[in-house]
Amino acid sequence: MKALIYHGPGQKSWTDAPDPKILHSGDAIVRVDTTTICGTDLHILKGDVPAVQPGRILGHEGVGTVIEIGPGVHDLVVGERVLISCIKSCGHCPNCRSGLYSHCLGDEGQSGIGWVFGHLIDGTQAEYVRVPYADNSLYKLPDGVSDVEAVMLSDILPTGFEIGVLAGGVKPGDVVAVIGAGPVGLAAIATAGLCGAGTIVAIDRDANRLQQALGFGATDTVDSSEPGWHEKVMSLTDGAGVDVAIEAVGLPDTFTMAVGLARPGGRVANVGVHGTSVDLPLQELWIRNISITMGLVNTNTTPMLLKLVARHKIPAGKFATHTFSFDQVMDAYDTFARASETKALKVIIA
Ligand code: NAD
Ligand code: ZN
Repeated sequence: MKALIYHGPGQKSWTDAPDPKILHSGDAIVRVDTTTICGTDLHILKGDVPAVQPGRILGHEGVGTVIEIGPGVHDLVVGERVLISCIKSCGHCPNCRSGLYSHCLGDEGQSGIGWVFGHLIDGTQAEYVRVPYADNSLYKLPDGVSDVEAVMLSDILPTGFEIGVLAGGVKPGDVVAVIGAGPVGLAAIATAGLCGAGTIVAIDRDANRLQQALGFGATDTVDSSEPGWHEKVMSLTDGAGVDVAIEAVGLPDTFTMAVGLARPGGRVANVGVHGTSVDLPLQELWIRNISITMGLVNTNTTPMLLKLVARHKIPAGKFATHTFSFDQVMDAYDTFARASETKALKVIIA
């Protein structure tokens, strides 16, 4: 088969790779029909994720067709159209039973990152992928949901919802600020609205992304590269501060911005992956009773989000801005990496 292989920092190629094989009884082999690229893939390519070693097939988002199943797979049949969760999980170990799929105990010795495709196991930017624990790591797709809509459920929608909206405890009427209107921030915006947030402020420095945010349910947009941005957000809360600030960038500055926007007793839901340490202003957090949450996505809300996508309650198709064939995967990466010029959100490879 052909696959996108990581060869070390700055190097990748779309090249021949051995076809994946069933290794354990719970495995399935899936033909990848649609995949996409995540900001995390760019981090890996820069060398920011040293656990990912040269030779690895990248990608953790995908929709495909089951072509082979191991003897321990009971809920799927060959030919079935499936969504590939970015996290593989057994579904029955103590951590999975408590919803912590990203810390499944099924494979000994693997850390959270080992549960994400395209990290310690081969990923979805390939013609075929082996999916461990297929019964729990794959979701059957209903006819009314397109591949393009479904692929947004592999990672970005559960991430924005679980780590932003649910962890942040968004309640009806809340004022929510989402810092970073990339695919993950937009997913948080779309799902915060479903939880009844009264005001959803999208904050970014990119005018196109702010414009896009309105289409996902943001009620207000604020350009944080402009002077007075903080006052502008505060004015939407009568000076009180926001109930929930969702950080969806992954920079020390944007974390500080989130803390500064939260009202006394408010919550900061950190979704961004921080490559460098962030100073925690404990005195300020203490005196203002601010709670902070963070974590790796679990994708245990995927079945519920899938129902909402099927009922057109989440505009999942809107994330897709560009489409490429598998042979054009290098162009797809280039378009995605230059998002501020190309206005790309999610690039579809199909
Ligand atoms: P992205 O890079 O596409 O989007 C980030 C957005 O932040 C961009 O629109 C950019 O213009 C904006 N931005 C950058 N600097 C800013 C600043 N100083 N002020 C305001 N806005 C700024 O990223 P994405 O794919 O949407 O992912 C967002 C974050 O979520 C990343 O850190 C990613 O690694 C993380 N993530 C976390 C999980 C998890 O499990 N917690 C899962 C997936 C992704
Ligand atoms: Zn498990």
